[in-house]
Amino acid sequence: MLQQRLIDALGADAVKTSPEDMSVYAFDAYSQGRNPSAVVLPADVRDVSAAVKIARECREPIVARGAGTGLCGGAVPIEGGVVIAFARMHRLLELDVRRRRARVQPGLINLDLSRAVAEMRLFYAPDPSSQKASTIGGNIATNAGGPHCLSYGTTVNHVLGLEIVDENGEVFTTSIDDAGYDLTAALVGSEGTLGIVTAAWVRLMRLPESVRVWVVAFGEIEAASEAVSAIVAAGIVPSALEMMDAVITAAVEEAFHAGYPTDAAAVLLIESAGLEDDMNAYEAAIKHIVEAHGAISWRSARTQAERDALWAGRKGAAGATGRISPNYYTQDVCVPRSKLPAALRAVEEAAGAHRLVVGNVFHAGDGNLHPLLMYDRRDARQVAAVIETGNAILQSAIDLGGTISGEHGIGYEKRDAMTRVYSTDDLATMARVRDVFDPQRVLNPEKIFPRGARCPEVKPPTLVQ
Ligand SMILES: Cc1cc2nc3c(=O)[nH]c(=O)nc-3n(C[C@H](O)[C@H](O)[C@H](O)COP(=O)(O)OP(=O)(O)OC[C@H]3O[C@@H](n4cnc5c(N)ncnc54)[C@H](O)[C@@H]3O)c2cc1C
Repeated sequence: MLQQRLIDALGADAVKTSPEDMSVYAFDAYSQGRNPSAVVLPADVRDVSAAVKIARECREPIVARGAGTGLCGGAVPIEGGVVIAFARMHRLLELDVRRRRARVQPGLINLDLSRAVAEMRLFYAPDPSSQKASTIGGNIATNAGGPHCLSYGTTVNHVLGLEIVDENGEVFTTSIDDAGYDLTAALVGSEGTLGIVTAAWVRLMRLPESVRVWVVAFGEIEAASEAVSAIVAAGIVPSALEMMDAVITAAVEEAFHAGYPTDAAAVLLIESAGLEDDMNAYEAAIKHIVEAHGAISWRSARTQAERDALWAGRKGAAGATGRISPNYYTQDVCVPRSKLPAALRAVEEAAGAHRLVVGNVFHAGDGNLHPLLMYDRRDARQVAAVIETGNAILQSAIDLGGTISGEHGIGYEKRDAMTRVYSTDDLATMARVRDVFDPQRVLNPEKIFPRGARCPEVKPPTLVQ
């Protein structure tokens, strides 16, 4: 009944119903959930609206899906339902160069947007390391960050307006230019629980006149983290300030030959962007600080090709760990920058307690840690050890005054951890906001909110990373 109605409304090409086809949509980059009841691939907003109305009438929940690169089970159907996947809505709809903005469909891949506007010397600033695959819709729903969000801000700072299909299949639009409540900002980061993004106006930035990239090596991780705090404390905001430890640089060099030193305990990748006239002063100030904190080497990338290679290595770091481990689990926590050394010690201790290899690659300037825990998922003991270690790292971040996610979101994975950082009253306030948009909880149920009275027992998804 559900499947036939969707086929009648959207056409057979736009609906997947075979168990094999649908099983692909039971995964994201973190976990496996249940097969959905149907998958639709809409061509436009009318299709999305029709699919939502049919799902509602058939009493099926609705899960929006971009590229499925999410790392917290956000796009995974937990109760089955209809998955609305945006692979066919991937166009740049309008470009306003003068006002530096673009209207895009949600399935547009992040990097494709920057590539499409590069000729006009523009770019889209939020640059998650997944940007070759992840979509603007998924980025909006998770308020994605990325290396350059240190100076440019996260996705919420770059979304100017949205077209949304609501829980009843009705369409509404928002704009940051509207007076009154900023509904655009409320919808960004809502992980598909408040509405489905079917188009977005996004801000484009002018490419900087000059970009410099430096690779700085340290003999100790602690010294590198102290240097990060000191750079920002000195009032310098590089356009990116990333850290990798020796486990990661070894894997990256083996995979990419990107130009990172492999004899250092930690490496900082620092980028400054702006006016050429300011660059020498920036370089001198940063060099002075890192040397005062015990840097053992300093290298400037001289050419665009060298800079690109360093960034390709950094953004491909998670994939490069395939060289050293069959699987990895990514934790995502945030701590105050001054607590980075303590947070990294806690990561080391937690992984050490289970003899797990851990590699750290992260947005150091934001205090946003991403310990990658290496394991083999065919070994149940290692899986249990990874889950326990991930939990211990989460708790240590909270104990240091940080929080349970820097950028990947809450999704299914961290829903129960919400009670560790929010009181019952806080969660009730959030639930009231949700109830305004989606009182029946049909949009991406079983996400963000801790298991509770309104949630049926469900089979937990399985770790797949
Ligand atoms: C190797 C790797 C590196 C990564 N690096 C980063 C990083 O640097 N920064 C970062 O923030 N994240 C990073 N991520 C996580 C992930 O890429 C981001 O969360 C990304 O924004 C997800 O986009 P997606 O298109 O894959 O969305 P999906 O995984 O498909 O969905 C994510 C969430 O968005 C919702 N959603 C998707 N589309 C819509 C829509 N149109 N309307 C409403 N809701 C929707 C889904 O329901 C789900 O809750 C990384 C992931 C990997 C695998």
